[in-house]
Amino acid sequence: MQSFGIFTLKDLIEYYPRDYEDRNKPKKIAEVVNGEEVLISGIAISRVQEIPTNRRNMKIYKLLVRDETGTCIITWFNQKYVKTVIEMGKRYVFFGKATVQGGRVELTGPVFDKEGQSKNTGKIIPIYPLTYSITNNMFRNIMENGIREVEGKLEETLPDYLLKEYQLLDTNTATRSIHFPDTFNEFKRARKRLVFEELLAMELALLSLKYANKNEKKGIAFSKEVHMSDVIQTLPFRLTKAQLRVLEEIDGDLESEKPMNRLLQGDVGSGKTIVSIIAAYKVVKCGYQVAIMAPTAILASQHLVNFKNILEPFGIRCELLISKLTKKQKEAILEKLKNGEIDILIGTHALLQENVEFKKLGFVVTDEQHRFGVKQRGIISSKGENPDVLVMTATPIPRTLALILYGDLDISIMDELPPNRQTIDTFAVGEKMEDRVNTFIRKQVQEGRQCYMVCPLIEDNEEINAKSVMELATHYKEEVFPDLRVEYLHGKMKAKEKEEIMGAFKNGEIDILISTTVIEVGVDVPNATIMVIQNAERFGLAALHQLRGRVGRGKYKSYCILKCGTLGENTKERMKIMCETQDGFKIAEKDLELRGSGEFFGTKQHGLPEFKIANLFEDMPTLKLVQETSIHIIQEDPNLEQEKNKLLKKLVKEKFKDRIEI
Ligand code: ADP
Ligand code: MG
Repeated sequence: MQSFGIFTLKDLIEYYPRDYEDRNKPKKIAEVVNGEEVLISGIAISRVQEIPTNRRNMKIYKLLVRDETGTCIITWFNQKYVKTVIEMGKRYVFFGKATVQGGRVELTGPVFDKEGQSKNTGKIIPIYPLTYSITNNMFRNIMENGIREVEGKLEETLPDYLLKEYQLLDTNTATRSIHFPDTFNEFKRARKRLVFEELLAMELALLSLKYANKNEKKGIAFSKEVHMSDVIQTLPFRLTKAQLRVLEEIDGDLESEKPMNRLLQGDVGSGKTIVSIIAAYKVVKCGYQVAIMAPTAILASQHLVNFKNILEPFGIRCELLISKLTKKQKEAILEKLKNGEIDILIGTHALLQENVEFKKLGFVVTDEQHRFGVKQRGIISSKGENPDVLVMTATPIPRTLALILYGDLDISIMDELPPNRQTIDTFAVGEKMEDRVNTFIRKQVQEGRQCYMVCPLIEDNEEINAKSVMELATHYKEEVFPDLRVEYLHGKMKAKEKEEIMGAFKNGEIDILISTTVIEVGVDVPNATIMVIQNAERFGLAALHQLRGRVGRGKYKSYCILKCGTLGENTKERMKIMCETQDGFKIAEKDLELRGSGEFFGTKQHGLPEFKIANLFEDMPTLKLVQETSIHIIQEDPNLEQEKNKLLKKLVKEKFKDRIEI
């Protein structure tokens, strides 16, 4: 059971079915179709006959049953006990797989019950998501025991007034009915209750975070005398309307006494980095330090270059802190940081370490936040006194969902790309096109451009992924493009090696870079014009969109080629969307619809809990309901201290004890 993540009784009863089978309505024998799983009800018109076979250990048991439309042969293998339990002349219900041949109906190895009983049939049977190590029958038995164990003893987790207001089932009924409902209506009611509870816990947790941030803490009010326009004037390009609007929102937050807690959502290439640079300028000129946290060392280094380019002329001192520095280098940086000789510290999760002390931290930016999450944000913020926090993400989420999921943050959206961006021509191709694709790559390289080639992460095993990247690289290096400069990059390489390769690619010393998705985030190489994605069908749309955003960053026409191994209906539809639109928000919405929220909002991606039962796409109406309710509750009782909300406090605490304090 451990392999299913089941360790306790609670884990067990929260292991919900993935589907249900209706074993309620028997079918007439004459209507049974060949190959279907079917329930029939009939009278035994023979005894169970034991038939020996040639094989020593194999015995067959046969029984003839009849209903008003016909007869059916029931066959079991090696199940001697049926001889003793089935009586001639009595009625039974059978559920099993049917074969129909020349009017002869046969059920093989069915489960059955005496009429009126419903141990194996005659009800809605849950189907659990299991692997081969255990059958659904065995698991259902375990679950039945588990439910019997807790039935009637589960403490209610929702307050009475909510149960009444929303006509929700009590926790005991809901738990039993989600596993063993008597009717589909009962299942629906059970599911509604459990989804409501799950979403409510999340929503209350997020809202209480937001409320705590807004009303209790006093943040820094940065001076109105320092103007962002001083640095904006020096930029080599004009900011987009969206960038200006977002900067205005950020400026407002900075000057206000409330700590900023803002999410900046912007599509790849919309120019988020420059926004953070301008905000950082203001903070430093007001006498405070800034921390910039990026998910990878490559990105952090790239940020350092960008920050220095724009801010060094203003005498602002930027430094990089990543784990590969020597002890001595680190110590020197930490010392200067403490003394206030560094204004902006850019780095990876290395910034979270305890010995990183600022003199006067006023502003924290976390880039591509899905790699960090709520708790890390808290750690870095605690290095200052309620610093302003800006979270930047390039994973577009439909606005309605963003509002809910990032309940603890204010949201700014950059929905406009800088004007120099061109559309990236996107093609989905099958394996037959291999040669043409390669010819095309060669042509682009001969014109001086560069190419990314990405292969999918096969599993959560860097070892295997490294191998597949290397094999692919060898193939291209030796057989396809022996005359071109082909290199590879994978997650198992040392940070230093990775950075060298990435640096060489940036400098134009590599023509074709083959990699896993380590290049997914943020890297900027304007001369790269082709993105080839191997086995594109294995990627989610959001990931494909991110990858495509790596090209089309310079003045050259760019292309994205999606190579698909197989082209099922779902794949076709997904590839079509990629070819048709470049709007990250549209793509996100479609991705959600086609894949369901489970994969889209995995814990890893967004630092949010994985849902056991809720599905954010299907359950949008419940989510809205829950959101309204939660806002109401938190406004009235921000710390959930009232007697009537006692259970809610407990619920939130239990589900989020590792993530937030309440
Ligand atoms: P992302 O939002 O994906 O992080 P970046 O901040 O990396 O995007 O910006 C991508 C590129 O666009 C950078 O080279 C940046 O200098 C450039 N850029 C940003 N804003 C503008 C603008 N308003 N006009 C032209 N180029 C811009
Ligand atoms: Mg970025």
